[in-house]
Amino acid sequence: MKIVFRDDEPRKCGSCSLCCKLLPVRELTKVAGQRCKFQRHSDKGCCKIYERRPPSCVMWSCVWYASPEEAGDMRRPDRTHYVVDIMPDFVTAVDQASGLTQRIDVVQVWIDPFHPEAHRDPALRAYLARRGERDGMAAIIRLNSDDAWVLIPPALNNGQWQERRGNPNDKSEDRTHTAKEIFG
Ligand code: SF4
Ligand code: SF4
Repeated sequence: MKIVFRDDEPRKCGSCSLCCKLLPVRELTKVAGQRCKFQRHSDKGCCKIYERRPPSCVMWSCVWYASPEEAGDMRRPDRTHYVVDIMPDFVTAVDQASGLTQRIDVVQVWIDPFHPEAHRDPALRAYLARRGERDGMAAIIRLNSDDAWVLIPPALNNGQWQERRGNPNDKSEDRTHTAKEIFG
C-alpha cells in the first residue's frame, strides 16, 4: 500500500506489512486482524498482486508512512503493533438522561490483538493528544472487525485520558462508516 502526501523523500514500508494483516479489505472479503492471502515476505515487496491490488489497498495508507511530520516519534507500525489510519471515522455518543446524540470524530487506530496494550505507546498518546487539542478528535481503538472502544484525550475530558469500553451489546460505536457517511 503506497500513497505519498508530501514533497520530500518518502518513507519506505520496508518489511512492514502490518496494515495487510490488521485492516479489513472488502474486495477480498478479508476481515480485520486476518493476514491477507497475498502477503509475502520478499525483497520483491510484501504484496504478491501489488500491480493489481484492490482499490481499498491502493487508497489506504498509515500516518507513519504518509505524514511523518504528524506522526512525530511514532516508530514503524510493525515495531509498535498498531497502525494509525489516515482516514477518520466517527462515533455517536448518546446522553443517557436526555437521549440526545452527538457525533464525535475519531482517529482510527488498528491494534494487533496479540498486543492489546499497544495503545499505551507514549508516541501514539502524544499524537492523539495533539489531535484532541487541535482538531477536537477522540480515537477509536479497533481490535478486529467487531471489537472496538473509544479513547478520549485529555483536551476533551478535563485533562484526563478516558477509556470508554461501552456496552458490549451495542455495536453502534464499533462499525466502520463509509466515506459518504463520514464526509456527507
Ligand atoms: S502499516 Fe504503514 S508502514 Fe506498514 S506496510 Fe502499511 S502503509 Fe507501510
Ligand atoms: S492485496 Fe496486497 S496490499 Fe492488499 S492487503 Fe493483500 S497483501 Fe496487502
